[in-house]
Amino acid sequence: MKSIGIDLGTTNSVIATIKNGVPYVIPNNEGSRTTPSIVAYTKDQKILVGQLAKRQSVINPKNTFFSIKRFIGLRKNEIDINLENLPYDIITDTNNNIKIKCPAFNTVFSPEEISAQIIRKLTDDAKTNLNEPITKAVITIPAYFNASQRQATIDAGKIAGLEILRIINEPTAASLAYGLDKKNKTILVFDLGGGTFDVSILDVGDNVFEVLSSTGDINLGGDDFDKNIMSWLIEIFNKKENLNILEYPKSLQRLTEAAEQAKIQLSTHEETEISLPFLITKPKDGGEPRHLNTTLTRTTFEKLNNTLINRCKEPLQKALLDAKLEPIDIDEVVLVGGSTRIPAIRSLIKSIINRKINESANPDEVVAIGAAIQAGIITGEMKKMLLLDVTPLSLGVETLGEVMTKIINRNTTIPASRSKTFITASGTQTSAEINIVQGEREFVSDNKILGCFYLEDLPTHMDNSRSEIKITFDINEDGILAVKAQEKKSKKEKSIIIQNTSTLDENNVQSIIDEAEKYAEQDQEKRKFAELASQAEIFCLEIEKILQLNESTINETEKIKIKTLMNEIKLNIKTKDFNSLQNHYNELKLILDQLTKN
Ligand code: AMP
Repeated sequence: MKSIGIDLGTTNSVIATIKNGVPYVIPNNEGSRTTPSIVAYTKDQKILVGQLAKRQSVINPKNTFFSIKRFIGLRKNEIDINLENLPYDIITDTNNNIKIKCPAFNTVFSPEEISAQIIRKLTDDAKTNLNEPITKAVITIPAYFNASQRQATIDAGKIAGLEILRIINEPTAASLAYGLDKKNKTILVFDLGGGTFDVSILDVGDNVFEVLSSTGDINLGGDDFDKNIMSWLIEIFNKKENLNILEYPKSLQRLTEAAEQAKIQLSTHEETEISLPFLITKPKDGGEPRHLNTTLTRTTFEKLNNTLINRCKEPLQKALLDAKLEPIDIDEVVLVGGSTRIPAIRSLIKSIINRKINESANPDEVVAIGAAIQAGIITGEMKKMLLLDVTPLSLGVETLGEVMTKIINRNTTIPASRSKTFITASGTQTSAEINIVQGEREFVSDNKILGCFYLEDLPTHMDNSRSEIKITFDINEDGILAVKAQEKKSKKEKSIIIQNTSTLDENNVQSIIDEAEKYAEQDQEKRKFAELASQAEIFCLEIEKILQLNESTINETEKIKIKTLMNEIKLNIKTKDFNSLQNHYNELKLILDQLTKN
């Protein structure tokens, strides 16, 4: 019985295992070590996965599903892809969850089901190759995946009939593959795949892998380079032939493939020929068939893609900043993803980090190898090592004034458990709403609500005191969050696990962090006001009680003074007048002090 590691990629997937103590990438039945993450359903009810699915995509665009990883675990309002440009149709169920329409089978599939087909193909082919059953797997996910995307990936594995031992972050897997025999090193993982870009910095030493920072751009990848070549080719062709190639979908598909091929060629050659005979066989102008012949040089390629290449700079610098490191502190750069073979990308990395790039592993395979090593560690086939991943975003709860109070900070090593005790707004409050929030901004409305529950039947307090509620956040090694709330006196408690709920809107983790930085000052002001306002409100409630209880002992002048101040406070909260609120609140506190002294 073998355990395996799967790199379930947006563009391509890879499966590996440990054979005789060393990692081994398992080729698929077509003899290839990478499998396109594409699933197609045909009219004669066949399911094709990988290269076969890719090959027929031109003639079956509505039933050929690619880039499914971009939808897994997300709701429609959270996806970051222009659906207009997709050849297949996306719909939503009543919960706004993404479903993919499959006309050939007259049904709809969830992204998990389609991903499960990819996993099944990988494991079936691996069983054939190894001649052994496969039941257990480690699957990798991008570091920025939220709880629901992680859970959905686990579900895809389960649908494919596997026991998922663990899901691990892709950069951690990559450095695990590189760092096997290394001690005390700081590794930068630069991962540029087909559709996404990630940079992570890890500390590797004494068999401990700790992620120091993780950042990226979920809308940057090799496909964007292809698109730029495409636009260049379309312009050349349309001008020369006086036709609009956009009106010929099959020709466009050939052009897309040629663009990617040209890009790949230019990673090892200074120039490449693009030759597409009979690109349009029957032109609409009734003329002769049209061909495309042109040469693309590396210099032109780099000019066309200059903006994309430069977009890699910022996340690279941000990763260093987040990890509080200088380029000199990086011992090794590890490359992941096919697009890191582009020479201009390598030059860019060298220009910033000024380190020799580790080229000892294949960038397409290194993540799957790391996953296989982790599976081997769990099943005892490899020596023990500890993996320490981090939370990509802060987690907390909503407190008075719609403020987010963080309980677990961003970049905290997981598994992690943190608690904070909160006090209810009043002693007569019988239930507390626990709103679980993810993000970096000060206010709940600017962040993402992951879930909500109520702690009911709180004890009422006759003595003016208030209930204390201890909230505990637990994140397990897969990044799944469990939240527990417990009332201190009655020990009444309630908990939820955040799964199957969407956790991020269409903003990627990075843009959330960037936005938090941008609005930091403004948010701070708002937060200060919200805190003061809620303190003052609670104080007014207390004073009202004191007035009731001491009706006979407080003189009328004092009473009027107090009531006037309380009205002023209410007005100041409404008009958001910080300074007046502070003054009136202080004045009221002074009066109360004097009253209690008398
Ligand atoms: P991945 O998601 O890691 O499988 O990366 C896939 C992306 O890498 C696709 O956009 C490929 O076109 C690109 N790619 C693969 N090989 C090369 C190469 N030799 N040069 C440039 N890009 C490549």
